[in-house]
Amino acid sequence: MIRLSAITPSGPVQLGNYLGAIRQWAAEGTAEDVYFISDLHAMTTSHNPARLRSLTREQLAVLIAAGVDPRSVCVQSDLVRELGALTWVLECTCTYGEAARMIQFKEKSAGRDSVRLSLLTYPVLMAADILLQGANEVPVGDDQAQHVELARVLARRFNGTYGEVFAMPRSVVPQTAARVRDLADPTRKMAKTAPDSAGTVFVLDPPDLVRRKVKRAVTDDLGVVRHDPAGQPGVSNLLEVLAACTRKEPADLADSLPDYAALKDAVADAVVEELRGVRERTRALLDDPAELDRVRAHGAERARERAGHRLDAALRMSGLG
Ligand code: AMP
Repeated sequence: MIRLSAITPSGPVQLGNYLGAIRQWAAEGTAEDVYFISDLHAMTTSHNPARLRSLTREQLAVLIAAGVDPRSVCVQSDLVRELGALTWVLECTCTYGEAARMIQFKEKSAGRDSVRLSLLTYPVLMAADILLQGANEVPVGDDQAQHVELARVLARRFNGTYGEVFAMPRSVVPQTAARVRDLADPTRKMAKTAPDSAGTVFVLDPPDLVRRKVKRAVTDDLGVVRHDPAGQPGVSNLLEVLAACTRKEPADLADSLPDYAALKDAVADAVVEELRGVRERTRALLDDPAELDRVRAHGAERARERAGHRLDAALRMSGLG
């Protein structure tokens, strides 16, 4: 069973990525899984080349530092030739209507002709990511489930038209890992690309900056430490972050914390402790570019080996070569 997940280098890795995804990839992933830095996907909107390259390296270092099996990790663009070839074949398997119906495309393009064409076609690249690696399970949130469904449609159509090449992937609901909200605006998810970084804790933030961000987190004026996400979103988010770091239940933690100051102190201490190791190991890897390059090349080689026969078969059976 191959599970496939990705992180997009659109910004530095934040606490939600770590508690909600990466920590789980490290704990439960196997060498057969695929965890990749989706740098090609980060190009569907305006991007800066140097920043993209540096964020890609940083994210790769964080995944390795967090303990994700290096044999399962790769950078998407290291397979750009294979993915480019398969994307073309899959674009020739997909209709314009299918791509244009994707809710994310409709929302993000909102009828604007100036969006990059890749915003329309990237779900086909995502299908290539999934099908090239023979992934069986793709854990995704609601916003990506439609894209995995498209990958299934394309796999079925290709196999039915040209012959059996692709394994049928399925989307799975990720197990209840933490869902972290923005500290400055708990109505929205913590994200790498938030307009203002005050509410986002980055994995590489130094401890004093983490403490400052937690201390300034939005709470409310009720003055009661209680886990009530609808009525007290800020306080509940802090309790959930604390729960994720200490592996306890938010409601139990609430009972032991007398006031918001105590809550914030506890959260700041727990987050600093949780991130300390991964931050230090990431820094060490970033300071050793040769080692990071070695890990990266090895991951790419493995992913390429795994994909080769499937790409060759897809090209041959669709009449190429
Ligand atoms: P992305 O930031 O969209 O590249 O997502 C990479 C992974 O991190 C995905 O598995 C997301 O579900 C997860 N993730 C991103 N933000 C959060 C968050 N605020 N809380 C929990 N998980 C998150």
